[in-house]
Amino acid sequence: MEKSKTCLSCNKEVSGRSDKKFCDAYCKSSFHYNKMIEDTPKFYSRVDKQLKLNRRILKIYNKAGKVTVRTNVLLDLGFDPNFFTHYWKNNKDEVYLFVYEFGFMKKKGERNREVCIGKMARLYA
Ligand SMILES: [Zn+2]
Repeated sequence: MEKSKTCLSCNKEVSGRSDKKFCDAYCKSSFHYNKMIEDTPKFYSRVDKQLKLNRRILKIYNKAGKVTVRTNVLLDLGFDPNFFTHYWKNNKDEVYLFVYEFGFMKKKGERNREVCIGKMARLYA
């Protein structure tokens, strides 16, 4: 079976080695640039989906006041602590990461096994 030997960027015929995918470095970089542009909406919707899921999970556990939850419980539900909207440091130098109005903080000295969850208005007060 003969492999297609057209440039992935400009569709011109590519001469040379059969595994060549682009006619030159310019075509190669413009192909990757365009792919990156196309992938950007996918990245946005992935971030958006993860933030919404994180918020939903924090909301389930934060019914009243401040609660402590095992990290694994959150992770099992699909919580990803790398996705948050902002952070806030209280007067004890503890940093809360927020997902919209819900904040969470990894508890120290517990090898990150527990997370403290609280609602913004309550934590700021
Ligand atoms: Zn080309």
